[in-house]
Amino acid sequence: MNFIDATDLRDAVRSRNVKASDAVAATLAKAKAANAKLNAFHEILEEDAMRQAKAVDDAIAAGRDPGPMAGVPVAVKDNIATREGRTTCSSRMLEHYRSPFDATCIERLRAAGAVVMGKTNMDEFAMGSSSEHCAWGPVKNPWDITRVPGGSSGGSAAAAAAGICGVALGSDTGGSIRQPASLCGCVGFKPTYGRVSRYGLVAFGSSLDQIGPLTQSVRDAALTYAAMAGVDRRDSTSAQLAVEDPVASLEQPIAGLRIGVPAQYISDANDPQVNALVRESLERLKAQGASIVPVELPLTDVGISTYYVIAPAEASANLARFDGIRYGHRAPARPGQSLDDLYAESRGQGFGPEVQRRIMLGTYVLSAGYYDAYYGRALKVRRLIKAEFDRAFAGCDVIAGPASATPAFRAGGMTDPLQMYLCDVYTVNTNIAGIPGISVPIGFMKQDGASLPVGLHLQAPAMADATLLRAARMVERLHPEAAVRPAI
Ligand code: GLN
Repeated sequence: MNFIDATDLRDAVRSRNVKASDAVAATLAKAKAANAKLNAFHEILEEDAMRQAKAVDDAIAAGRDPGPMAGVPVAVKDNIATREGRTTCSSRMLEHYRSPFDATCIERLRAAGAVVMGKTNMDEFAMGSSSEHCAWGPVKNPWDITRVPGGSSGGSAAAAAAGICGVALGSDTGGSIRQPASLCGCVGFKPTYGRVSRYGLVAFGSSLDQIGPLTQSVRDAALTYAAMAGVDRRDSTSAQLAVEDPVASLEQPIAGLRIGVPAQYISDANDPQVNALVRESLERLKAQGASIVPVELPLTDVGISTYYVIAPAEASANLARFDGIRYGHRAPARPGQSLDDLYAESRGQGFGPEVQRRIMLGTYVLSAGYYDAYYGRALKVRRLIKAEFDRAFAGCDVIAGPASATPAFRAGGMTDPLQMYLCDVYTVNTNIAGIPGISVPIGFMKQDGASLPVGLHLQAPAMADATLLRAARMVERLHPEAAVRPAI
């Protein structure tokens, strides 16, 4: 049972070789044991998970189709609404929040037979790249617990990489699925903006946010995506397009795959071992008949400044609802307290320092007098970044590079917020352009005696999610040495 992927588990459950209840019980035991070390879960939903598993077993016993994800345990990032358990966003602000409904993606996963087994730890309101900005302690990297797992979906990445659950869900506004996947050594897939409904995802940057899977294999990412994707009338930004079946075509290699490699991605500022692993991976793809096409993405560098205007601007508006009255933590009443005092005290106590910093940044760039200079300008640069990708994709099918310039760094080692923002240099433009991206493990590098995973980041044109997954599967097949799990 250890380390079989979700697809194999699903097959075993469907063919009655394994009972969903047994598989889920084993997962719950593993999650509880690992959590003492990793702090990957806020909550493990034992009773609910066992009830769902029994329903799958009952369906099979009654001869009903248990669904394409029958018995697969799913860990859910704590900013995705679930009827069971709490949805805290790792914030004191939502410490006691229970959602009265399931997010659309959860509804669909349950309908496919998947079993929601826990809520994962994350950076507060998904703001961060290290999973250290957490109200209840940081997440640890399963390869070296003195290091961060990346963020903001760090709990989901650690759980998937350690093989605790079949599938973990994350959200990606500027890299929060792909960067932690790279740092923990699992697959992390951010679909095209609009492919997966955001209904039930606590909004951070609404024009950038997208839900996606973190898994042990590319086929599990495809399986989960297929179950979640598609139009949803409760999310007006969900794409009104049929979703190609990414599972059926997955094993067919793309003949003559054209891989765009921007000079800007294999930068001297990257760790040399990261660059070496990326180059090695490209060599292996070339040996399989892929062609490497040089492309230019000179706006890579301005991604960070553009993203750190747009995302905080949207966040400052989205987080206005947490005022201690309609939603969230309320400061204790005291004599003479005005309504403004109540707001300020509630928000001051409920939000952690990084979230407060983002709200201030966002409010500033949207304020009269600065709006045109910052927010308006960032929107113009956003158009240019999108156009730059369109030009690059005219000559290639996917664009490749590192997901992160460095491997997992030491916990507590990055105290300057700007330094932390720079971690996202290779991932934010994907969201700014609304295109899909995936990180696939390609091996390990050595640092201070630790063996640390590195991921290859692939991006594709909007709506080419199935092509992206096929290319990722080609990469995965060429790196059997990366298919190793940490001992927990
Ligand atoms: N690290 C980025 C940030 O802090 C991205 C976060 C995300 O994708 N949710 O904003």
